Amino acid sequence: MNDSDTEPSTPVLLDLVNSRLTLSDGVFDELDTDHHAREWLRARGGRGTPAEIAGARRVRDVLVPFLRGETGSDVLAPWLAGMRKSASLEEGRLVWSLDVADELAIGARAIEEWNALQTPTGSRIRPCANPECQHFLVDHSKANSRRWHSMESCGNRMKSRRHYAKSRELAS
Ligand SMILES: [Zn+2]
Repeated sequence: MNDSDTEPSTPVLLDLVNSRLTLSDGVFDELDTDHHAREWLRARGGRGTPAEIAGARRVRDVLVPFLRGETGSDVLAPWLAGMRKSASLEEGRLVWSLDVADELAIGARAIEEWNALQTPTGSRIRPCANPECQHFLVDHSKANSRRWHSMESCGNRMKSRRHYAKSRELAS
């Protein structure tokens, strides 16, 4: 549990809340089978144990409505109760790492990341402003004013739609 490759070096929150999309031809879920989920977790520094897989799916169901503003932060409480940090010395430096049970591991990392993304100008993680898009975005810009998860797929589409609506308004 304390080996250094379990440290939250690879961000997990954004990928997690973007890992399941309902599209016109079905649900696209990167954690659908245990095999896919194990690969997904291992690619992000996880262990891919059955408990970690179950916990990742469970916390995703909590984080998506929470980040959409549909629930309060009290839904995070079960993960906070299990969050512990342990200290170790690495090359003469004090290093803190999360020391949690596998079923809470991904949730604890995601909540730590969420916390680090809260700023005086608001959260840096939020849903894409295209109402038809299910993606979330993390905004690292200084103004924290990014609206689209992708300029190509959402920004331009919404802009041209607004432009179209405006030109119709002007013509009528
Ligand atoms: Zn989008």
